[in-house]
Amino acid sequence: MADEQTKEAKVKITPRGEDFPRWYTDVIAAADLADYSPVKGCMVIKPYGYALWETIQAVLGARIKETGAENAYFPLFIPEEFLRREAEHVEGFSPELAVVTYAGGKELDEKLVVRPTSETIMYDSFSRWIRSYRDLPMMINQWCNVVRWEMRTRLFLRTTEFLWQEGHTAHATHEEAEGKVLEMLEIYREFLQDTMAIPVITGAKSAKEKFAGALQTHTIEALMQDGKALQCGTSHDLGQNFAKAFDITFLDDEGELRHTWQTSWGMTTRLIGALVMVHGDDKGIVIPPQMAHVKVVFVPIWKSDEEKAAVCEAARGLAGEMDVEAKIDDRDLRPAWRYTEWERKGVPVRIEIGPRDLANDQAVVVRRDTGEKTSVAQSELAAKVTETLESIQRAMLDRALAFREANTRDVDSWDEVVALMEGDGGFARVGWCGDEACEDRVQEETKATIRCILGEEPGSSRLCVVCGKDSTHIVMLARAY
Ligand SMILES: [Zn+2]
Repeated sequence: MADEQTKEAKVKITPRGEDFPRWYTDVIAAADLADYSPVKGCMVIKPYGYALWETIQAVLGARIKETGAENAYFPLFIPEEFLRREAEHVEGFSPELAVVTYAGGKELDEKLVVRPTSETIMYDSFSRWIRSYRDLPMMINQWCNVVRWEMRTRLFLRTTEFLWQEGHTAHATHEEAEGKVLEMLEIYREFLQDTMAIPVITGAKSAKEKFAGALQTHTIEALMQDGKALQCGTSHDLGQNFAKAFDITFLDDEGELRHTWQTSWGMTTRLIGALVMVHGDDKGIVIPPQMAHVKVVFVPIWKSDEEKAAVCEAARGLAGEMDVEAKIDDRDLRPAWRYTEWERKGVPVRIEIGPRDLANDQAVVVRRDTGEKTSVAQSELAAKVTETLESIQRAMLDRALAFREANTRDVDSWDEVVALMEGDGGFARVGWCGDEACEDRVQEETKATIRCILGEEPGSSRLCVVCGKDSTHIVMLARAY
């Protein structure tokens, strides 16, 4: 048997407790998810990482379609003038824009922006597609890449080019648009919870943190194992800002010409970074069964060619009885190297089967999340695997939820906020007076931001944690990616 490690098994994974950022990049290499690119800030998503994105596209994409939205595709290039039509929008995005000025062998008369988001290019079409109330609601979703020129980048979390879905809707009334904003936020929350086993908190962004051009932005925020928050998705109430800038009007049922009310909402490849940081351990990534395209891997064990033929045949037979597709790793590598590789790749269930197991009519089921090993009779293996996958999915959500609860604190004093953010981090639930000066002070002195507004509590007995005046909002503070 070859005594050579696989390339994944060779990567040394720095323990989380020693250096979390290093652990993160080590895990991505060890799981073979992505690679750096010759263009700074861009990344190559490798097949094992792209499979995670394909699961997101399949599961979330189906949920989006169920809401009535249809997929479409709009151009990568946007006339620069389009972005200028919505003043706040262009101001918010201009530092991050990549602009094409030269193409086809000459300077362009009209500069073209590489899309940072598609509101403007889509709404130019909406203005021609929407005529009457019968054309509403218009609901379009697009899966694509976008470019935002980032100075400091990290694989999956912040890259100059990233993949996402962006949904855009137009409605006859503000009430209907507001309903859509919250409907999509709830779909995102459920997707993260049920498929990715990531619990999130939801709420509105402060005026300072909202999307450039929106009336209001709602967000879902998850807590990573290092105590930092990660924004996992946003849903925006665009009001009539873009409808007015792009002249999107419709005749209502009384023949009156009105502007539409709009929403947009998106989730990105950043979710893969969240998956790594919420569930990963010192052995590598841990993938919840609902997200894993390889859910079960058989690792047969042998010493001779005859043994290899027997255990591999048994593994193929048992794999055929499973409710899910199982992979058989019969490479000529020591079992220990193969175990390590699948642990690093976070496959939920590993099944070890050797000559002694064959003689005893059993196999050994190993859970990736806990490392627990159980000998199971071969006749019961398929049922045991199904049950174990369900159990892992539940346990991973429970663990992530328990971690978040343990790291969410009600804080009433400024000194405590400072100490917490310097120390363990996590979420601090505090009162806020609504004044942007207090919000700025939080950021300047603790590097934390208001992740979301949990609710308005006029007349609440809580005081603003910064200035001590009466608070109007309860907000969640955290340092964030
Ligand atoms: Zn205040």
